[in-house]
Amino acid sequence: MALIDDIVATQDEMKRWRRDLHAHPELGFTEHRTADFVAEKLASFGIEVFRGIGKTGVVGVLKVGNETNAVGLRADMDALPIVEENGFEHRSRHAGRMHACGHDGHTTMLLGAARYLAATRNFRGQVNFIFQPAEEGIGGARAMIADGLFEQFPCDVLFAMHNAPALPLGEFGASPGTVAAAGAFFDIDVRGVGGHGAFPDLTVDPIVVGAELVTAIQSVVARNVRPADAAVVSVTQFHAGDAYNVIPGTARLSGTIRTFSLDVMQLIERRIRALANGIAEAHGATAAVDVRTIFHPVVNDAEAAGFAADVCESLVGANRVKRKLPPGTGSEDFSFMLEKVPGCYVLLGGKDDAHTAALHNPGYDFNDDALVYGASFFASAVERRLRAGAGGR
Ligand SMILES: [Zn+2]
Ligand SMILES: [Zn+2]
Repeated sequence: MALIDDIVATQDEMKRWRRDLHAHPELGFTEHRTADFVAEKLASFGIEVFRGIGKTGVVGVLKVGNETNAVGLRADMDALPIVEENGFEHRSRHAGRMHACGHDGHTTMLLGAARYLAATRNFRGQVNFIFQPAEEGIGGARAMIADGLFEQFPCDVLFAMHNAPALPLGEFGASPGTVAAAGAFFDIDVRGVGGHGAFPDLTVDPIVVGAELVTAIQSVVARNVRPADAAVVSVTQFHAGDAYNVIPGTARLSGTIRTFSLDVMQLIERRIRALANGIAEAHGATAAVDVRTIFHPVVNDAEAAGFAADVCESLVGANRVKRKLPPGTGSEDFSFMLEKVPGCYVLLGGKDDAHTAALHNPGYDFNDDALVYGASFFASAVERRLRAGAGGR
């Protein structure tokens, strides 16, 4: 039980990479500097580099021997439109952009594993290092898949890792089954008839329709979703009107849906449409409903999750690996890759006295001490899965 010594020895350099990436955050599909950084590092390790897969996506390929077994390792590269509140030296150099989800750390951990695997080559088969753009709700995984990711770089199994600020530093989570929620965004445009605030009888008031709709939507989870199926529907925006004495002609309600299955997502969408159309019609208004599923649920393959947990145990011991975590209502677009190739989305703890901020918080910073754990996981997963001389598994 131990981390990989050769990776621990490169800790300081990984930390410099991570801080460089943190200081230069880029939003989804504009990760040009980040992709350059990744491509240059991979090439310097002697790994073949492919660019432009999913716009700014990068894939590195490392092959040893003639075996065709292939492991895919995925890291995300994008930052968020958040104003960083940290004052340390590696804070964001770009106002309004921030690595507040730790993707700077994920990219660094995968680069650390790539360097080690390219130097040691202690496996037989192929490793595809997948550096994905635009994870934060704008379709990076789907863009890579649409560009032929898995046709060009077939994988037998996939692993990705996300840091978890609520888990203690160096603890891992690798659970079978559903581990993260499906997520959708919706907009409902209610159209009535605007007019004078003093003559409501001459209008069709979209605010009254919208208010009734906000209340009615609360019944969907309470009265339509099976009690055993968890779901969230939140109306998070209600925009209408600009004046005290004008009844507006339109109102817009927007929000998000989270579920752990696509069936429940579809049920909720159907119910929201029925409520919006029915309530609008009852008042002589109309409603246009747009529901966009952004994320599917992340479903870990049971065998891959068991394997990942075994790898984690070999690094940190059984008492620091959680093999059964309750699913979280957060979402992650690695889900789309796991629909194509079985695999496991692994969580890595980062919490210590200096790192307590939640993901997407303006005071968040990836814990550099987690880098060696993540890089050791990726490297060890490859060495065990593509064991030299064992023909894979
Ligand atoms: Zn995020
Ligand atoms: Zn993230």
